[in-house]
Amino acid sequence: ENARNALLKNRANKTLQDPKSDDTTKFSTLPLSKPTASGLEASHFQNLTDVQARAIPLGLKGRDILGAAKTGSGKTLAFLVPVLEKLYRAQWTEYDGLGALIISPTRELAVQIFEVLRKIGRYHTFSAGLVIGGKSLREEAERLGRMNILVCTPGRMLQHLDQTAGFDVDNLQILVLDEADRIMDMGFQSAVDALVEHLPKSRQTMLFSATQSKKVSDLARLSLKDPEYVAVHEAA
Ligand code: ADP
Ligand code: MG
Repeated sequence: ENARNALLKNRANKTLQDPKSDDTTKFSTLPLSKPTASGLEASHFQNLTDVQARAIPLGLKGRDILGAAKTGSGKTLAFLVPVLEKLYRAQWTEYDGLGALIISPTRELAVQIFEVLRKIGRYHTFSAGLVIGGKSLREEAERLGRMNILVCTPGRMLQHLDQTAGFDVDNLQILVLDEADRIMDMGFQSAVDALVEHLPKSRQTMLFSATQSKKVSDLARLSLKDPEYVAVHEAA
């Protein structure tokens, strides 16, 4: 696991040592809030990967994004930074309820996203939670109402939207569909469709996947509005 992480980090660094790299590839040149900038710095993130350099500025402008970039290219920060900034700019507080929902195909990936969120979001005051099952529905339900950011798996989240009385998602500002190709491959299409039906239409949506496919573009058509396409290919 560590070896894999080191490998991924090396790959990310390699992109960054590209001679074309300049100041536009640094987090410090982005118009980020103090808490986000400090969280990134404390987590030792300095240089943007390609997908981050392309997706974050568009995300900060409030655009919907359809992003495709291979595993290990840094997609997590490409959506977490815009998520934090969106809520910070809206001066989101505990009384505003759920502001951001991040959907992941598996529990393991959801936990990974949550850990990165906790690291880079450490100087923000938002509450964040995981909705991936494993606890009783009621136990989860009690905490849901207090969360500003949720990282979830599709089936479990839909269960709450259908069954948890008083769980209100009408304020949601931003939706992220991560690993959309795997979400579709794992058969979550109808769960995600139903989930999106519960959400307010006026929201920002970012969809990321490692590969492009017919199923992913179907999901994109359903969930995104006039998206910006961000596809990062390996250098030849
Ligand atoms: P993906 O979701 O595209 O598979 P991840 O977001 O999981 O990629 O990132 C892969 C690895 O690269 C992780 O170990 C992460 O910490 C590292 N990483 C991501 N962005 C950066 C960055 N800007 N600088 C250095 N390392 C990074
Ligand atoms: Mg990922």
